Amino acid sequence: MAEKLVAVKGMNDILPRGVPRKDKLPDSAIWRWFERTVDTVMTRHGYHHLITPVVEPTSLFVRGIGEATDIVEKEMYSWKDSMNGDALTLRPEITAGIVRAMIEHNALYNGPLRVWSIGPVFRHERPQKGRYRQFHQLDVEALGFPGPDVDAELILMLRSLWLALGLEVGPHVRLELNSLGQPAERAAHRAALVTYFEQHADQLDEDGRRRLHTNPLRILDTKNPAMQALVEAAPKLADHLGEASRTHLAAVCAVLDAAGLPYRINPRLVRGLDYYNLTVFEWVTDQLGSQGTVCGGGRYDGLFEQLGGKPTPAIGFGLGIERLLLLLQEIGVPVPDPAPDAYAVLPDAAALPQVLVALDALRRAGLTVQMYAAGAGGGASLKAQLKRADASGARFALIFGEDELAQGLVTLKPLREADATQRMRPLAQVADWAQELRNA
Ligand code: ATP
Ligand code: MG
Repeated sequence: MAEKLVAVKGMNDILPRGVPRKDKLPDSAIWRWFERTVDTVMTRHGYHHLITPVVEPTSLFVRGIGEATDIVEKEMYSWKDSMNGDALTLRPEITAGIVRAMIEHNALYNGPLRVWSIGPVFRHERPQKGRYRQFHQLDVEALGFPGPDVDAELILMLRSLWLALGLEVGPHVRLELNSLGQPAERAAHRAALVTYFEQHADQLDEDGRRRLHTNPLRILDTKNPAMQALVEAAPKLADHLGEASRTHLAAVCAVLDAAGLPYRINPRLVRGLDYYNLTVFEWVTDQLGSQGTVCGGGRYDGLFEQLGGKPTPAIGFGLGIERLLLLLQEIGVPVPDPAPDAYAVLPDAAALPQVLVALDALRRAGLTVQMYAAGAGGGASLKAQLKRADASGARFALIFGEDELAQGLVTLKPLREADATQRMRPLAQVADWAQELRNA
């Protein structure tokens, strides 16, 4: 036998419900339900769907995300195209590609635009629960809006999404909020930080020393317990924010307050990408261990210009779908997995050609009909097929027995009603009784 091939480490299959797997990753039933729910919520809020390529020029991310970020420093899958030598990268996030596309197609010519996308993103990280090398994001962007109204709207839309998915704000997910101010305010804060950390250089770990002159803000994001006290006492960005930045944040908070959405202002929230300004936020959970950030986003008013476009204020977020679905599983949120209307039971495989024609008519009439593959000679016993019909949750078994078929009939056997009797219906006139299956 040839050697078995397995998936690349940190890149996972999403499999149908019922396929046993050791890693407990979410199955495609919960995945599809999430996507349907997202679709509904996005449409309700006037967001338009778009898809951009998974591969982009490497320079897009270097310029967009920033040279000194974790992503660009060590997490990107980049290579040189073997045909023409172009520097290419598997996207590590979706926003930069969307902004590139908007500029390229002059998509905001007629005014601001709300867009959303779902797809795979790639980061070369150490795989663990809630952290993978290929994962999936829901990415949502409000483009051309200066805010703060749209900032609040975007955050409230996420609450709508949580509710639609059966998550409660408070016990399951919490909102953290901060303002990163404007570039000049950040520069002043950064200078104060560098001075402070230089004075305490002996207390910095290796990462901290490296970031001191490349990205000192990221030191505040350290997970090293030995540095917590140092970081706690560091100069705060809030003390460097000007009037306009403070007013912007206050206006976002006022809408959230009025809508009854609780939040915590977290002055330590800085986010891992360079492009953010003003409003930044994260939705976090305590139920997933250390991978507790389900969704993060913020305003990026400078990104369009940085990527060669016109000045365009914008805000967006990225939501980690695997983490969110793990959370739904953890909590035990019930996932609707609609049962078929009917399940075909076929004692003799010789009848298949006739049966397939009848099932085709039923399906064209809009019914969901399943069948256990009963190819010539491969059929399971009548009893085994009825058992499968029952397990499928179908309301009816359609029994294509030899005697019925000889008369051009099929038996409808109700599976969910205790004292219902089975009856026979003509195979040639499916349209006459299809409704009977649907309405039962
Ligand atoms: P973290 O601090 O956990 O590394 P991040 O700040 O790098 O997160 P973002 O760039 O904000 O993450 O991406 C948005 C969301 O994507 C995160 O909130 C998280 O839910 C998810 N995410 C990020 N990295 C991974 C990964 N390697 N595997 C699975 N989900 C991820
Ligand atoms: Mg990360």
